[in-house]
Parts: sequence; C-alpha cells; structure tokens
Amino acid sequence: MTRFTATVCFLLFQTGLWAQTAILDSGGPLMTEQAGYDITFYDLSVQVFPDERRIEGVLEARAIVAHPMHEFVLDLDTLLTVRSIEERLPGGQYLPLSFRRAGGKLWINLRHTRQRGESFRVAVTYGGQPRVAPRAPWQGGFDWKKTPSGAHWIATSCQGEGADIWWPVKDHVSDEPDSMALHVRVPQDLVAACNGRLLRTEKHADQTQTFHWYISTPINAYNVALNIAPYRVIEGNYTSVAGDAFPVVFYVLPEDYDKGLKLFEEIKDHIRFYEKLLGPYPFRKDKYGVAQTPHLGMEHQSIIAYGANFNNGSMTGGRDWGFDALHHHEFGHEWWGNLVTNSDWRDMWIHEGFCSYMQALYVEEKQGKEGYQTFMRNQRRFPNTLAVAPREIKTADEIYRAPIYNKGSYILHALRGVIGDQAFFKALRQMAYPDPALEKITDGRQCRFVTTGDFLLICETVSGQELDWFFDVYLRQPALPKLYSRVEGGQLTLRWESPENLPFPMPVEVELNGKRQRIQVTPQGVAVKLAAGDQPVVDPDQWLLCELVR
Ligand SMILES: [Zn+2]
Repeated sequence: MTRFTATVCFLLFQTGLWAQTAILDSGGPLMTEQAGYDITFYDLSVQVFPDERRIEGVLEARAIVAHPMHEFVLDLDTLLTVRSIEERLPGGQYLPLSFRRAGGKLWINLRHTRQRGESFRVAVTYGGQPRVAPRAPWQGGFDWKKTPSGAHWIATSCQGEGADIWWPVKDHVSDEPDSMALHVRVPQDLVAACNGRLLRTEKHADQTQTFHWYISTPINAYNVALNIAPYRVIEGNYTSVAGDAFPVVFYVLPEDYDKGLKLFEEIKDHIRFYEKLLGPYPFRKDKYGVAQTPHLGMEHQSIIAYGANFNNGSMTGGRDWGFDALHHHEFGHEWWGNLVTNSDWRDMWIHEGFCSYMQALYVEEKQGKEGYQTFMRNQRRFPNTLAVAPREIKTADEIYRAPIYNKGSYILHALRGVIGDQAFFKALRQMAYPDPALEKITDGRQCRFVTTGDFLLICETVSGQELDWFFDVYLRQPALPKLYSRVEGGQLTLRWESPENLPFPMPVEVELNGKRQRIQVTPQGVAVKLAAGDQPVVDPDQWLLCELVR
C-alpha cells in the first residue's frame, strides 16, 4: 500500500464513507467472523410509525457455531440506533452484552469463546428513521408513499443494499435461516402484507395492530419485506401439480380492486405455466402472495412486490406482449432465486437471465414459434463488456453491471439450440428440482444453493454432450464469438473465431434448397459445395449467439 492510498483509506474511514460502502452493497467475500456461524432462525418484531417515518424493532437471531468465535458480527445501517443487545439464555434469563459499531457492522462481545456446535440466541433492540429509498427498487430502502386517496402506502426493497438497511442481519446471500417469524405492528387502518403465512392479527389498545407472520422455509434476507397500505384482499386456492392446494392472495389497493380481480385470473395462468415447466410452486406450505407496491417490483418470497400498475409493458419498454411481464418475471423468481439461490452474486444470471427467458417461453406457448423468435430478437440487445457469470466473487452492485438479464436469457436460447428441446427442458426442470422426491416436500428441504457449475453438470448429464466450451465462451468471459460465413467460388465457407482462441466446437445449421443440415465447423473452417443458383441460409432459426461476418 502506498502512503497515498493509506491516507485516502484513513480519510474514508474517518468520514464514514468506508462504512457506507458495506451498508449500501451486499455480498462479496464473506468475512471470517461471519463465516464462523450459521443462522438457524430470525425472529423480527417491527413497529412502523408512518407519520414519523420511523421504526422500532427487536431482532432475535439464533445461530449455531461453525468455527470458534468470541464476537458475533451482524450488519446494520449506521442511520439506525442500537438501544440494547442481550443474550437470551435457555433458562429464560436475559444477559446484557456489550458491543461496538464499525464499518456498518455490530461487533457483539459474546463474553467467552463459543465452541463449534454450540448454539446461542442474541436479541438486538434498535430503531430510528431508516434510509429512504432514493429510487426503489434499484436503490432501495423505505418507500413512504401515499395511495391515490391519501392513505399511507409503505414498502421496503433492499436487493442491492441488503436487509441491513432496515434490520440487524447477516448480510450475505449464502446464509438463510431455516425459518423465520415476522411481527409487524401498524396503525389499525393499515394492513401489513408480508412473507410466509399469517398466523393471526392482534389488536392493541393504542389503535395499532400486529400481524404475526411465519415463514416456514429458508428465505434470503433481502426477500423479507414490509408492504403496508389499506389493502383489500383477493384470495383463492390453487391446486398444485403436486396435488396439494395452496392459498393465492393478492393485496391490492382499494382503488384498483377491479383491475386486481382481472390480474388475479392471469396470475393463476402464470402459476399453471411455471408448474408445468419447472415443477410445483415451492412455497405451498405458506402461500403465494402478491402485494401492490409503489415501486416496480421485487421477488420477495411468497409476497411478490407488484408495482406495474396493471400495465403489461411496464417491464418491456412499453411493448405489450399480451401478458403482465412484470408479474411473470417476479413470479419466476419463486423458482429461480427463492427455491434455488445463488450462494454468491457471481451466479445471479441464474435468477435474472432464467426469469427473462421464462417470458420468451411463455410467449412461445401463447403465440407459437414466430412470437418466440420475435421476442428473442427483441432481447438481443446487450453490451459484451462484462462476463455474465464470472468466476470471481462478486457483490450485488458489481454483478448488476453485467448483462445478466437479456444476455443471460439469450445464452439459454443458444444452449437450447445446441442440446435440443428434450434435453434443454429436462435440464431446466432438474435445475429446479434435481430429484422428483423434492417436488413433494414443502418444509424447506426443497430449497438449495446453486452455482453455474451445477447447471453445466446437469446439462452435460441430460444431453450426453460436453459443454464446458459453451459455458467458458458465453458465461465466463464477455466477448462474442465471430462466425465468418462466405459464399464464393461455388462454395459456402464457415469458420469460427472464438475469444482468446477458446475451443468452440459450435455446430451451425444451414438450409439449402429447403433441406437443413447441421455442420460441425472445425477450427480451420469447413466448405460446403454449392450448385449453380444455390442460396444457402445460415442459422435459419436464429439459434446462434455470435457476431456474423460475411
Ligand atoms: Zn428479477
């Protein structure tokens, strides 16, 4: 470290900017102190004071020790005040613990070293005015908005920043509690629509009421959400392909009740589509919920944030493809993101790219092959400057600079072209549920962490093809391969030029006089003889993802 950088770092630390980098981002290398424990349960109680834009809460974290530890480290935004921290002992006594705050983290002194396999419960009482979202959901925090009739309309979103901007938490995507309790106290004219299932509501003498929610499966911390408004409830039951029925609940603003009824029917069709393609809706033990939010949307597990304003094109640049694309995308995350979750943000294309491609498959189901191809052409707009699934550890902020949505989707399209429909759809299904026995399980054991490497292995197994060359070129580095295609001297010549000269045995389909053939293009290039008047069409169905040079 040079003297100059040392000074800069010192200044950042002094001004608090250093700490904010950690608060406003999520993931990256997991610090040793946080790798030392596994969260088993969160119990979060929050009271929301809408007029003061303030919250008061208690978070109890239960953890099991994986590595000897003396300090228990949680993340919490420095805007929030910690009132006290205590250990909750098995006998029911509360023991105050000392703590310090540094770098956007709480360093809680456990008094003596905890040994591997021991478990403990620590409660943090905190409160204050949480960060207001500058531009939800892209820059998250609390949204304190009003409904058209002037009632409070409040929502949290924190995908990029992590849940530490509103509650004390281990802000890392790799650790989810096995289950979670969530108690939200709000004024009595408001409803708190949250994750999991509603166990009961409790009215208090001070005109407030508490909604007691319980999430019976693992949940990613950024998915835990508050949605508060004078909601009306549209509900029904849906019978899953697994055979059991689960509640479907739409929390809609009273002003939009009729529009909500219409969307509710479409929601059921989205459920049918996804279950057919990927297997049962994973959170049947709780519910499938949708809450109307003032921000565009987020994949909050079992309570999807819906802010598309009943406009089909709100996620597709205004273009209406005949369905609510925003709901379709966020709902897809119940499989790609919530059932299977990346353990590091570097694999986030498994959430975003897969969900983007699900829309194309829905268009194909509704409008046929031509509709599908038009949709894919529309998605073929992305920069090729950053790898979609880099091998290095990434933070949320870093990975969202890569073209994980459209390019991720287009890579799946190209993969389907290589391995064919049968293997491709089998691979998708196995990525969601590797074992059909898991499709029947609802207690949380169906959820798991995944990597790009897992998907590669599944694709190779179901297709019987080696595919590391495909993953290396399309996912691990940014540049596109070039296909040189030339008709000259009575022949068609084809030659691949791959980035960094990586192996790239991509077959190319050519249509000649109405007949199609798959040509294995060797590194030296291949030539196809043409008769007079032949007009070959290279890649007639547009499966390839490349730069075409003629
Ligand atoms: Zn998404």
